[in-house]
Amino acid sequence: MALTEFELIRRYFATSTLAFDSPDVILGPGDDGAIIAVPPGQQLVMSMDTLNEAVHFPSGADPFLLAQRCLLVNLSDLAAMGAEPLGFTLALSMPQAEAGWLQAFSEGLAEIAVRERCPLLGGDTTKGPLSVTIQAHGSVPAGQAILRSGARPGDAIYVTGQLGDAAAALWWMLKDERFDDTLMDGAEEQALRQAFYQPESRIQAGIALRYLASAGLDISDGLASDLQHILQASSKDGRVPGAELYADKLPCSEVFRQRVRPDQQEALALSGGDDYELCVCIPPHAEQTACDAMQQLDIAFTRIGEVTSTAGLVVVGADGGRSALQSAGYLHFSHP
Ligand code: ADP
Ligand code: MG
Repeated sequence: MALTEFELIRRYFATSTLAFDSPDVILGPGDDGAIIAVPPGQQLVMSMDTLNEAVHFPSGADPFLLAQRCLLVNLSDLAAMGAEPLGFTLALSMPQAEAGWLQAFSEGLAEIAVRERCPLLGGDTTKGPLSVTIQAHGSVPAGQAILRSGARPGDAIYVTGQLGDAAAALWWMLKDERFDDTLMDGAEEQALRQAFYQPESRIQAGIALRYLASAGLDISDGLASDLQHILQASSKDGRVPGAELYADKLPCSEVFRQRVRPDQQEALALSGGDDYELCVCIPPHAEQTACDAMQQLDIAFTRIGEVTSTAGLVVVGADGGRSALQSAGYLHFSHP
């Protein structure tokens, strides 16, 4: 039986599990707009991401996991700003309203929304190719957001978690020959699926790094490419700083080490997209405090390099050899 647009919204989205009460939400879904109260002394941070079928996720992706990925990548942007979630809005376009798909999608969203205390505030539902747009709203103490600008030569470069797993997962799903999938065990498959669809929330890390990081972002297009954004944004008096990265310090998981072809590992860790880990620059005086804070949160936090005064990205090998790095992240519209 066909669902009307409004039944669909009521049944799967404007539900008490997804659009749950929260002190800052004055009005959730159901009116022409939602109302949120920004806590006193705080600023509103907004970030939006669209995920299109066959571009950002494989066709026929599991709706539960897809929903989680869509919300988590948006929360990742809030985390990168050092913001705490207030709620999110959802624009969903889909070819047809299929009850099983919607139920799973709604449950996937709710699990993350509840865990991250980020209720659904409203949205828009339309018919069209499958596409999910989420806008996450968060708050940060006035003037304390972590920006891409502010990195200075001498700052250390740190990343949370591990690099390259999501890109390795994509190779696995697309049966790329650079990924060895012979006799994969269930745990490996689970780790990869999780890396791609359920990136770790770094909200708490971002909050802890607010007063410590000179600059930061979340890695979505690949470390090398995203680090360039920090360096560009941090130029001062017309001079763009550079960075040195230590090849043997790049944190990679066991499954990555076992399965990605050895000659591809460094490149994939540096340029593979979809990590959704934080990359932050930390001035020397704040390093210890930042490391202690991450340890308390039980979040891996690895010093992978330093900001330098010479422009360009240089990878320093274990043997001390240096090579200039071209950024090779994913850019939409750059390929025909
Ligand atoms: P309008 O016609 O005023 O733009 P809509 O008909 O698009 O409003 O939406 C009606 C209500 O349902 C709004 O409060 C909107 O936020 C909410 N809504 C629509 N789609 C979704 C969705 N996918 N998730 C949550 N709320 C939604
Ligand atoms: Mg209206």
